[in-house]
Formats: sequence, C-alpha cells, structure tokens
Amino acid sequence: MQIHFHGAAGDVTGAAFQLTTDRASVLVDCGLYQGKRQTVAKNRQIPMLARRHVDAVVVTHAHLDHIGRLPFLTKRGYTGPIFGTQPTFDLGKVIMRDAIRLQLGDLERENRHRKRERKPLLEPLYDETDVERLGALLQPVRYGDRVEIAPGVSARFVDAGHILGSASIEFTVEEDGAERTVVFSGDLGPRGAPLLADPVPFELADVVLMESTYGDRNHRSLQETAIEAREIIARAVEAKAKILVPVFAIGRTQLLLYLLASAFQRQTLPRFPVYVDSPMAIEATRIYGQNTEIFDTEAKAMLDSGELQRNLESVRPSSSVEESRALNQVAGPCMIMAGSGMCSGGRILHHLRHNLGHPTTAVLMVGYQSPGSLGRRLLDGEKRVNIFGERVTVRASVHTLGGFSAHAGQDDLVHWFASMAAARPELILAHGEDRARQALSQRIESEHGIRARCPELGDVIEV
Ligand SMILES: [Zn+2]
Repeated sequence: MQIHFHGAAGDVTGAAFQLTTDRASVLVDCGLYQGKRQTVAKNRQIPMLARRHVDAVVVTHAHLDHIGRLPFLTKRGYTGPIFGTQPTFDLGKVIMRDAIRLQLGDLERENRHRKRERKPLLEPLYDETDVERLGALLQPVRYGDRVEIAPGVSARFVDAGHILGSASIEFTVEEDGAERTVVFSGDLGPRGAPLLADPVPFELADVVLMESTYGDRNHRSLQETAIEAREIIARAVEAKAKILVPVFAIGRTQLLLYLLASAFQRQTLPRFPVYVDSPMAIEATRIYGQNTEIFDTEAKAMLDSGELQRNLESVRPSSSVEESRALNQVAGPCMIMAGSGMCSGGRILHHLRHNLGHPTTAVLMVGYQSPGSLGRRLLDGEKRVNIFGERVTVRASVHTLGGFSAHAGQDDLVHWFASMAAARPELILAHGEDRARQALSQRIESEHGIRARCPELGDVIEV
C-alpha cells in the first residue's frame, strides 16, 4: 500500500492524499492551494489523475483547502463517487460558489500580469456547471457507518469536531489476504469547545496520517477568550457603540452566535441587536440549524429547552446590499458580523469606513490576520488606513481574541494520537508547516517512542 502526497505536505493548503493498493486507488480530499501566486498556480495540476485511475474520492470537511479542487477533478474527467457527510456537501456547495466568485477576481489580476508578460491568458479553474456536475457523484455517509468505497477498501467516518460535518476517517484496507487499518485525522477540532462535539478517538490503527497545523503551540483557552470578549462587548454596549466583527462565514460565525446566546441566557450580557451581514454566513447558519443532532450535549439541551431560539431572537440576517447599507443608519448598541475575515474585501469594508472614526466603535478580530491585510494593519495600530481609496482615521478600539480557533492545539493533537499509541502505528504528519510538525513529532517521540515521518509534496510513501 502506498500514500501519494499531492498537497498539504510541509504546508497547510491543497490537501490531497492518494491511497493506493494493487486493487484500488482512493483520493482523500482534493483541496485548493491558497496563498502566494506560485502556490496558487499548482491548482491547475491534477497529478492524482495522471498516475492511475481513481476509484473513489473521500472528503473530510467543507473547507476550501480540502474540497476546492473537486470541480476541477470532474472537469478533467473524474466520474466516480465522492464520499462525505451531508453537512460537508451542503456547506461545500456554499463555499465552492463563493470560491468561483473570488477566483474570477484573482484570475483578472493574474491575466493582467500575463498580458504584460505576453503569456497566454488563463481560463477560470471551473465554473457553476462544474460544481453542479458534482451533485450526481455525491454519496452521503453518516457518522459511525461503515461503507465499501473501492475494491478491498471500506471507510468509517467519525466526528472530528472541527466544523459542522467534519470527519476523521478510518479505512480498512485488504491487501494480499491481510487487513490493515489506516486512519486519516482530517482537520481536528479543539477539545471542550462549545457547540460541536469533541473529536472522536480511535483505538486501533496500523497507519495514522495526522494533521499538524498547530503542532508547535497551544491556543489561548476558549474560556479566557470568552470572558475577555464579554468584557469588551459589555463596555461597547454600555457606550451604545457599534461592535464590528470581521468573520469567515462558516464556523466562527455560528460559534459566536452560540456564545452570545449563552451569555444572553445567563444574563452576563444584556440583549442587543446582532446583524449577520453576509448571505454566505446566513446560509451556513441555516445549514448548522438543519444538523443540530451533531451539536454537543450542552448546545442540544439549550435547543431542546427552547432557550437557544429565544436568546437568538435579537439576531437579524441582512441579505441584500440595501439591507447592508441601511445598517449605516442604525444606532448602537449593536454587533455587525460581516466578511471577509481578514478585511481584505466584502461588506465589512463599508462598515469599517463608516465607523472606524468613532472612538466608541469596537472592532473584534476573531481569526488569523495575514501580514499585509487590512485586518493586520488595524491590529498593528495603524492610525490611518485606506478603504475604497479613501483615507480613514482610526479612532476605534481594535481587539484580537486568540482562542476561537477551530483547530486542535498541540496538547489536543497529542491527546488524539495517544488513544492509538499502544497499537504502535506508523505515524505520518501532514497538513502543517515544517516547524509545527517537527515540534509535534518530537513531543510524540518523547512521550510515546514513535518517530513520525514528514513527507514532502510529491512524495510516495510505502506503508
Ligand atoms: Zn479545515
């Protein structure tokens, strides 16, 4: 049995791993590369189809860096089944549509560049039709069920606690009359986080392929972060101010709504209007609402008692551009959640332009802000920024809240692996920068005496 690394080997995007036996070839995830221009250029390569036939594709969760190349795969002729959970497919559709829109912007820039260099212009990676074509191939799998996916390969999906519908996958692989268990972690969520259940542990494995995104550090505790957030929000509400939260549509928006509902219920915050100013976030929240059976016990209890619905009554979706613009006239206190998460585009920009000049405005950064992004410049304390070509003076307070990550930190990753350590599996670390996976590898070796392999892009590992 071999594993080919077509992405997320030594970095964190473009996840695509191909498991091959003498009878079958299974692709686990088919994600988009994100980031620098050279990295993104790799999206146009589909090496998994070049080598041999792919019998089945299995997807762990709906993030673009795990599913974003799927339509390109079908565009290049793949017609086999795609296995994943139903929420992954539902959220995936929302994410891929948004990706098409974003890609068109990137492509325009790239083609301007190419025109200057007299290089041939590029076509879009894929379009709506290619996303629609995926529909016929999707095979929804429920947590816990075991399904035959390819000759001699079956798969069992369990909750990975990362985003709604996320899964770790246990493959049972039959080769030369022997059966072996291969576990793919997918992206793992943190333990003890609200709303979603904790990652489900495995006991037995012969081979483990594990993510290592935060293999070198632990996040600030969510409890501390929630207390800090509550204090900032309480002050802003007292001052009748606007609270602006740049968010990514899936995951953190729903986590924040849940935390607000809990705070309203316990009366640690007074109720105030919360605007979800993003059609994508509204759609993602609706999909969360359709899948409440996979919420954690506390969230389910709050839902069953009707408290969750009651405490979310002050949440108002704002879908249209007109509704979004009308928020400029709304008086505080209120919270506006809008994309993009790093303030690099989207509706958050017009809210920032309108409100950064007010000293009472509070901006809450709840996700990673990449260097150079407007979000990072605000966090770094820049007092004048450019928005839509206009100089805006920053008088608002800008806060960063570090504990809302959807990823397991080092302790949680080690804990997840520990349940299988007694079986002495072969360990492979992927989906992490080298510094992170080296740190994780050293810690696992010192605690469990198991040395991990750290493959590079394009490597093929015999297991
Ligand atoms: Zn993810």
